[in-house]
Parts: sequence; C-alpha cells; structure tokens
Amino acid sequence: MIPAAFEYRRASSLGEALQLLSDGGDEAKLLAGGHSLLPLMKLRLAAPSLLVDIGRLTDLSYVREDGDRVAVGALTRHRDLETSDVLRSHAPLLAHVAGQVGDPQVRHRGTIGGSIAHGDPASDLPAACLALGATFMVEGPRGKRQIEAGDFFQGFLETSLEPDEVLVEISVPKTGGAGWSFQKFNRRAQDWAIVGVAAVTGANPGIGLVNMGATPIRATAVESALASGASASEAASHAADGLDPPEDLNASAEYRRHLAQVLVRRALEEAGAA
Ligand code: FAD
Repeated sequence: MIPAAFEYRRASSLGEALQLLSDGGDEAKLLAGGHSLLPLMKLRLAAPSLLVDIGRLTDLSYVREDGDRVAVGALTRHRDLETSDVLRSHAPLLAHVAGQVGDPQVRHRGTIGGSIAHGDPASDLPAACLALGATFMVEGPRGKRQIEAGDFFQGFLETSLEPDEVLVEISVPKTGGAGWSFQKFNRRAQDWAIVGVAAVTGANPGIGLVNMGATPIRATAVESALASGASASEAASHAADGLDPPEDLNASAEYRRHLAQVLVRRALEEAGAA
C-alpha cells in the first residue's frame, strides 16, 4: 500500500521540531521510529500532510539516573532500553519489557516516546509505564508540562498530548529491590500481546494491562485487592473487573478476561506478591 502524498521535513533541534509542528497545525505529525505511524499511513488510516522527522534528535536519546528516579529521553530506542545498565539496575521491568517488543528490527527503530505517544492499547511499554507510575515530560509552544502516566491515555490511539506538543522525557521511580514481572501472551514469539501484564510489587505496587481495553490500562481493582491484604490469586480474580477488552481474530473478549486473570496471577507470583 502506498501512503497519501505528504511533505517531509527533518528537524535538527527540538526547537525546530516545535516550530514545524506549530506551522503545520493539525495536519502535521511527528515521525520518530516510524514503526507505528508509517503502517497507519500505508493503510491510509492516517494521512498527515506534513511529517516532521525527529528521529535524529540524539539529544533526546538517553537513559540516566535522576536522584530517586530514572530519566529516559523520548527518542531512546527499544534496543537501548533493553541493554541499559542504568535501567537494569534501577527499573529492570522497563528494560525487560523493551526486550519483548516485536523483533530486533522493530527494537532498533522504534522509540519509547513513539510507543507512548501512539497510545496503542496493544503496546507493551505503556503498560510498563503505568505499572511503574511513570511521569511524562511534554514540551510545546506554551512551555513544559508533566503528565502522570495514569492521566495520559484517553481513548483508542488518543492521549492528552496536544497536536503541537512533543513528548521529551519519560521519568520512572527507581524500584530498588522491588519484585517485578512481565507476562506477555502471544501465539508466536515476536507477535504483539494478545494480553500482557506488567507488575511491580514493593512500596509502590502497580499493575498495567496490555490489550484489555481501548487504552493501556492500570488494573486498579487488583491493586485495591492487594492493598486490602488479598492473596495473589484472590487479587488476580479482579483483573478484568469493569473492563471491556477487544474482540478480534486472536481472541474473544471472554478469552481475554480469562487470560488477564491467569497472567495477573502469574505476574504477582513471580513478582513476589503475598
Ligand atoms: P512512530 O511510528 O514514529 O510514531 C508513532 C506516533 O507517535 C505518531 O503519531 C507520532 O506522531 C507520535 N510520536 C512519536 N514520537 C513522538 C514524540 N516524541 N512526541 C510526541 N509524539 C510522538 N510494539 C509493542 O509494544 N509490542 C510489539 O510486540 C510490537 N511489535 C511490532 C511489530 C512490528 C512488525 C511493528 C512494525 C511494530 C511493532 N510494535 C510493537 C510497535 C513499535 O514498538 C513502534 O516502534 C512503537 O510503538 C512506536 O514508536 P516509533 O518510534 O516507531 O513511533
């Protein structure tokens, strides 16, 4: 499939990217790794008239300690998350999840910022960010602002980013020795998750779900049950409470509800929840 015609501009700085976005208005789109946007354009499900390529803004590719948090530049590629010693030491869930995204080609091109800004409920990294209680740093013509991961995902492929804003950094708390787990259920290695679960236990527990609704979702019913002293298996029985998972060729909604319960239980057990 061939995308609709578009103009292409490569930004050489964040400031230039913001200016190009602002000039382009609603018809402009950022291009990072291109691994989610270009497939949509080829299917003609997206037809931006201007692509602003930020893929070479290396200033926005980093993983570094920031006090009791880890700061990750939005242009950091999945492969660089997967192999980051800082993440492996201080937020190993994020490094591990990045290593489960697609295949090596996807991991060498795709960026964490693109994965989050795209807001796809089937993506793995947004669920990990929800579980970790991440904060997203956003920059636009009105300045900078921070958005909590829990407030960011608004609807199917919809986020609270304004069209003229750029996601610049993802900040996650260091998890210390807390337990963690990522359970990704797919038929073939490298496939998207039919359902996935990212879990962190310890002082700041969190559970994020992949492909269980219109957005990446935090499993608040499970978290409440754990806080009330429920066992891992009791808490996991609430994994699909109030959720409306999608139906597709891979799975019915009922199957996904069942999977969520099984995978949350496994995740909690692996992460060492009571
Ligand atoms: P792009 O495609 O460049 O952009 C995606 C969207 O985000 C666009 O709307 C763009 O305008 C916007 N955007 C990008 N960067 C920013 C920014 N900094 N600020 C604001 N907006 C921004 N993902 C998984 O989670 N799990 C998988 O198993 C998986 N498998 C895949 C398999 C294949 C074959 C492919 C092609 C993709 C797969 N992906 C998977 C998706 C992959 O991880 C994407 O790379 C990622 O979701 C998007 O990142 P990107 O850098 O490619 O973003």
